[in-house]
Amino acid sequence: MTTPLSRAEDLYSRVRSCLLCPLAETRTNAVPGEGPLNAEVLLIGEAPGMNEDKQGRPFVGKSGQFLEELLASAGLTRQQVYICNVLKCRPPANRDPVTAEVIACRDYLDEQIELVDPLVVVTLGRFSMAKWFQGQTISKIHGTVRQIDGRFVVPMFHPAAALHQQNLRPTIINDFRTVPAVLERARRLRAREQPVSPGSDSTLPAQLASTAPGAGEAPPANQQKRLFD
Ligand code: URA
Repeated sequence: MTTPLSRAEDLYSRVRSCLLCPLAETRTNAVPGEGPLNAEVLLIGEAPGMNEDKQGRPFVGKSGQFLEELLASAGLTRQQVYICNVLKCRPPANRDPVTAEVIACRDYLDEQIELVDPLVVVTLGRFSMAKWFQGQTISKIHGTVRQIDGRFVVPMFHPAAALHQQNLRPTIINDFRTVPAVLERARRLRAREQPVSPGSDSTLPAQLASTAPGAGEAPPANQQKRLFD
């Protein structure tokens, strides 16, 4: 029988032994990702850096420290969220990912998203943003919320960008502070979509729906929709 845990273990072992692109030759450790498989929030960075490559874990260097501060400003801990990257292996000298690498790694990321099935996805930086927002610029759309494939996706600057450009710090902090409201709204929408099983309190979804902003009209499934911006 497959369980979420056995699926994750299988995925992580395929990532650790992956030979789909030349980054396999230069990595020390692949970095599959980590976090609870029932996390409500999934964060996607760009690619492992030097520390991540050494330890085989995502966001364990300076960017990771800052990411933990950002999560705290949203009332979240690292242990509550799922963290992964577009690329599972470090590009030499931390260069930008190239298209062939993103394509080679794409199925792993898709599997993770499907497995965790988060309510909210936060993309960190241009490369994870491009998965949903091709051709758009991060300086224009950071912090905005869209409903895509039944979940909310929020593009944000990469924490490393804010470490290098101090003027981005307040922006990324403000963007992270919106996460609790986005999450609450996502919870309400999902509760509204749950089928009511016989014998359960059938008034509950209606009560939740009536307090949800925009209650009344169901959001179209599989359709991009701008919210809150
Ligand atoms: N930057 C990323 O995008 N991912 C990491 O895991 C670490 C730094």
